[in-house]
Amino acid sequence: MEITNHERIDTDDRNLCKLAISELGAIYSDLNLSQEELDLLEMPKRSFIVHFPVRMDSGKNKMFVGYRVQYNDARGPAKGGIRFHPELTLDHVKDLSFLMSLKCAVVNIPFGGSKGGVVVNPKELSRNELEQVTRGYIRAIANYIGPFIDIPAPDVYTDEKIMVWILDEYERMKGEHVFAVVTGKPVELGGSKARSYSTSLGGIYVLEEAMKRMDMDKFGVSIAVQGFGNVGENAARILHDRGYKVMAVSDSKGGIINKSGLDIKAVMEHKKGTGSVLDFEGSTNITNEELLICDCDILIPAALSDQLNKDNANDVKAKMVLELANAPTTKEADDIFFDKKIMLIPDALANAGGVVVSYFEWIQNLNNDYWEEDKVLERLKKIMITAFNEVHSLCDENSCRMRKSAYQLAIKRILHAERLRGNL
Ligand code: GLU
Repeated sequence: MEITNHERIDTDDRNLCKLAISELGAIYSDLNLSQEELDLLEMPKRSFIVHFPVRMDSGKNKMFVGYRVQYNDARGPAKGGIRFHPELTLDHVKDLSFLMSLKCAVVNIPFGGSKGGVVVNPKELSRNELEQVTRGYIRAIANYIGPFIDIPAPDVYTDEKIMVWILDEYERMKGEHVFAVVTGKPVELGGSKARSYSTSLGGIYVLEEAMKRMDMDKFGVSIAVQGFGNVGENAARILHDRGYKVMAVSDSKGGIINKSGLDIKAVMEHKKGTGSVLDFEGSTNITNEELLICDCDILIPAALSDQLNKDNANDVKAKMVLELANAPTTKEADDIFFDKKIMLIPDALANAGGVVVSYFEWIQNLNNDYWEEDKVLERLKKIMITAFNEVHSLCDENSCRMRKSAYQLAIKRILHAERLRGNL
């Protein structure tokens, strides 16, 4: 069956962990952490492995394995998505749950970090089987999640519809309504306005703040966006609406460029009709690789991981890179950008808008009071800009490495909470 990948940013983020973990060694030594602090950061608080049977359409039962890791919850209930993926491992879930702890701490929302999922290829399941897998997994972990314990959300190959099954199964077990147990729900069932495009808009708020630092003029810059899924398309659309010149976009089939700027609304229509952005009237077709090194001022990777690597980083002409995808930049490319003084806004900050609006959804559910879109956007903007300024102020005058500053800030916040609790 067709799966709509609501949280496409996470599609392939194995590198994210490698990058984060390899950065962490240096960060830990810069922060001069004690052995007890290191020990505390190195171990997840709780890890669950569950096995559960699902009656398949054939009438036979099949066993599935699921994981949930609550890495750290010193700053609040654990928060993180649920992914369905055939190659999911406990180790990968563990790394991702640590990264969620960092992401929530960077933007200073009162959550810890978690991640979970089921080892399954959802494309091989019927709609009914997908529902039964979701419900079976939730029954298996229901006693360990909750609005004040751990709050799941969408991630790779999970979407609004799956969040509703999670909600419904949990509520059946508890015998009461508990909207705040899961986020990423449809607006008609406790979801928040603006959640669907919050990752893109959150990134744009941060970008605009960064442009001020670099004295970049909104009407003088040209932008290239790699990826035309949920995050990339929304980013290109919002930038175009705000008057920016988006000169190149791409999807998995390839990209298009027009040096005077693309009419993004028309590109969206074209893609709807033809299935791709390619061959859009008035533009020239390019490859994804050409898009990354095109003559733009701002490059927004919003597709897969590892796109910017040692083979192409030296040819990148942009002065700024906004990581809306997870881990689009390898460690080698990261070093090259640093040497070339390209400002890189890291994923943990750039794409945190999604979990920030999840936080708003949780607040609205707990208060049973739903906000207008304006209020969601105003609060999202405030949180993203504050986080950017806090991360940026940690950068040295001449050597701004925002990924490192973001992780340092997050680790300090987590350890401070642990210390206040008496765990250190
Ligand atoms: N899966 C998303 C992320 O990795 C959203 C998590 C959430 O909203 O809790 O940021």
